[in-house]
Amino acid sequence: MQFTDKNDWRYQVKHSIKSVKEAAVYLGIELPHDLLEVEKEYPVIVSPYYLNLIDKKDPFNDPIWKISMPSTQELLDQSAENDPLSEEEQMAVPRLIHRYDDRVVMLTTNRCPMLCRFCFRKRKWKNGNKWSDISEEEVDQICSYLKGNPQVSEILISGGDPLMLGNKRLNSILEKLSAVESIDVIRIATRIPVTMPMRLEPELIEILSAYPQVWLVTHFNHPNELTQQSLDACRAVTRSGIPILNQAVLLKGVNDDEKVLEELFRALVKNRIKPHYLFHVDPVRGVTHFATGINKGLDIIKSFRKSLGSIAVPHFAIDLPEGGGKVALQPDYTKDGKFITINDNTIDYYGAGDHWSMDKRD
Ligand SMILES: *Cc1c(COP(=O)(O)O)cnc(C)c1O
Ligand code: SF4
Repeated sequence: MQFTDKNDWRYQVKHSIKSVKEAAVYLGIELPHDLLEVEKEYPVIVSPYYLNLIDKKDPFNDPIWKISMPSTQELLDQSAENDPLSEEEQMAVPRLIHRYDDRVVMLTTNRCPMLCRFCFRKRKWKNGNKWSDISEEEVDQICSYLKGNPQVSEILISGGDPLMLGNKRLNSILEKLSAVESIDVIRIATRIPVTMPMRLEPELIEILSAYPQVWLVTHFNHPNELTQQSLDACRAVTRSGIPILNQAVLLKGVNDDEKVLEELFRALVKNRIKPHYLFHVDPVRGVTHFATGINKGLDIIKSFRKSLGSIAVPHFAIDLPEGGGKVALQPDYTKDGKFITINDNTIDYYGAGDHWSMDKRD
């Protein structure tokens, strides 16, 4: 079949750019030759829609370029592990990570509309790894596991990007999961609103919104990703009754700046998308050059105390190694401005002039 409409997601998939060479031709720029080696290890895929967001006059400094195009640094930080979070070890049944008591993660596919250079599941799409989608049998096996573990009340559907699966497959997965009585929440983690918003066609939204358990978690990292088309897609989702949360990753040279993140988070809440997490980069092989250091994130969150309302401020979190799980970190408000100090039994507040002491045991 021919797809000629750029606003049809099938066109975007069919015409996705699959090498730096193609991207350079597309953007009308000179090919950065030193990137060819990187591609051999970590391939390139990007939708024409996303590539179009790059500033063609200054591509190499563009945040969209840095997110979607390889860097020679990917081959330099090879001492880090492929799976530092021990996801593979925590598989309860194939494609199901059971780390906490009440929630699990299901890996449905390793396909994505684009390959983000900072991806912490890069091991899944390294060269040599085949595309693979979850099978009906695997879904059934997961459902049996959930029925035998009724303490699990939430399932995260992750990937790759789960919305790369077809509408029928998605509907069948949601139907089966929602039939498990103990499942209250189905959290779909997808970067589709960012990377290929046209995928959120009315038929798909109708399927998703038929299941009252569904929440969508998307992944905007930079204000340049917030196009009208992507905001319209998100608006259609929230109008259908599905809440949207956003998780972002703090990326060196891309968004590690309080002004950039302030703009992003303000725009998200304006569009009824709740900034939920801001993650520090995990120590994953091929990714660590994006790490900013934890203090950077804490300083940015601290700066938001005055500049951003609470619904716009996400949890700043790190994912502990060896499957220890996510931990939200709070900036220390006791330093510098000496806002408060937390003692064993009291919390002391230093205002403009007065000093208040509150007993924690009261
Ligand atoms: C992130 C994650 C969850 C969900 O944890 P929340 O704290 O609810 O966001 C569950 N299981 C795994 C393995 C995860 O990585
Ligand atoms: S869309 Fe998600 S899973 Fe896919 S490459 Fe990007 S970060 Fe990784």
